[in-house]
Amino acid sequence: MTTSPSPVISRNPSDPSDIVVQVPAPGAFATADTVERARAAQPEWLSGGASARSTALAAVAAAIEAAAEELAALAVREVGKPLTEARAEVARTAAIWRYYAQAPYEPVGSVHETAAGAGLLMTRRRPHGVAGLITPWNFPFAIPSWKAAPALAVGNAVVLKPAPEATACAQRLAEIVQRELPPGVFTVLPGGAAEGGALVAAADVVSFTGSTVVGQAVVRAATARGVPVQAEMGGLNAAIVLPDACIEQAAAHLAAAIAGYAGQKCTATSRVIAVGVALEPLREALSEALRAVPVGDPADPATVCGPLISEHARDQVCDAWHGTPVLTGGTLPDRAGWYATPTLVEKVSEGHRLLREEVFGPVAALLPADDLAHAVRLTNAVPYGLVTSVHTTDLDAALTGLDRLDTGMIRVNAPSTGVDFHLPFGGAKASSHGPREQGRAALEFYTAGRTYTLSP
Ligand code: NAD
Repeated sequence: MTTSPSPVISRNPSDPSDIVVQVPAPGAFATADTVERARAAQPEWLSGGASARSTALAAVAAAIEAAAEELAALAVREVGKPLTEARAEVARTAAIWRYYAQAPYEPVGSVHETAAGAGLLMTRRRPHGVAGLITPWNFPFAIPSWKAAPALAVGNAVVLKPAPEATACAQRLAEIVQRELPPGVFTVLPGGAAEGGALVAAADVVSFTGSTVVGQAVVRAATARGVPVQAEMGGLNAAIVLPDACIEQAAAHLAAAIAGYAGQKCTATSRVIAVGVALEPLREALSEALRAVPVGDPADPATVCGPLISEHARDQVCDAWHGTPVLTGGTLPDRAGWYATPTLVEKVSEGHRLLREEVFGPVAALLPADDLAHAVRLTNAVPYGLVTSVHTTDLDAALTGLDRLDTGMIRVNAPSTGVDFHLPFGGAKASSHGPREQGRAALEFYTAGRTYTLSP
């Protein structure tokens, strides 16, 4: 067994001298121990009944609402989320717990006649045991919640390993959740790769969200153990703007999707594909919209683009626009913290990093396409397939063309960012593995089905 020698530290990305939290890393051994404690607590949580689980989840929702401003301020400080978006995330988090508070009362199976006539056939879904959840820093309340709430609703215990950069947010969420649940049923375990790896090695079901390279390793490790695993990973999302689109509206949606939260969303737009005559007006309108994006202190409710999460992340963004003609942006604001201005580049050469890898910053490439078919080919020409936004006034034509898109989600006349938590969420290719998250799909993932034959 290995232990993590260095402590877990998170810093304020707007003021890196501000250490938000510093805690010892528990290490792999303590991780396995935590899973065992959760495994011991799980049967009572399940046998306590639907009413107890429903009441607990609803109480978590209410407690999150009561602490909303404090939680939003913590996300501003720890992960640099602009206040308006942080408030929206906290409100969504409460809604997620409330939504899943109804789930314990849902049917867990079905009853059927036998083919022969005598007896009955029955299906029934049961929880796996301990759900091991590994999460990124960019939605520090919503992502842990949209995994934990359905897992708990159907009777699993949960061990959550958050990203080190979001440790304080996860610990605060844990305080709220643990007050409503029996001991051991929900545990937050700070740490990094060592603790994440140990969790994958011990949990009965694994749900991961984060980068593709880590996600694929998690999938391999869980699959080798034969435990169910889902992974939501990176994106390199395109927006297709057709010649008949309202250019002004498209530019506003694109600016929000490129620069909102400094582009640090898996659903951010990083490739803008302008079809035919849309190119010229879009080049102007989008450059102007990006120049107008308020960049600054995330605690200011007017800020749309705050800091990047780390110095490394900021350097990655600079690297990405290097060597390409910059239409707007391409500079580092003169202020403390890890900022970059919203950036649009064009004439990007084939094979350029911006067309191959997720950059995770406020930068996008403008690409011309001859027609919709060409735009679809360009959209599909990357290893990722999370979300595509399409901007047009001809819904019929768009829907026909869109059948060939290799992405899990398609948003028409809307930014690529934005999630409705009651519908399945997920992508294709290197963006996702396994069953979808959210909605009813999550309840299926956190349970295993059995078929019973009841003979007279
Ligand atoms: P990351 O992959 O660096 O880390 C994610 C989590 O994995 C963290 O908790 C980390 O500590 C843990 N981890 C690291 N190494 C591990 C290992 N070997 N075994 C087990 N766990 C390990 O990602 P990040 O920087 O925190 O988040 C940004 C990434 O997340 C981006 O790629 C973004 O696209 C992606 N993301 C995807 C979605 C989605 O739903 N598709 C949503 C949000 C973020």
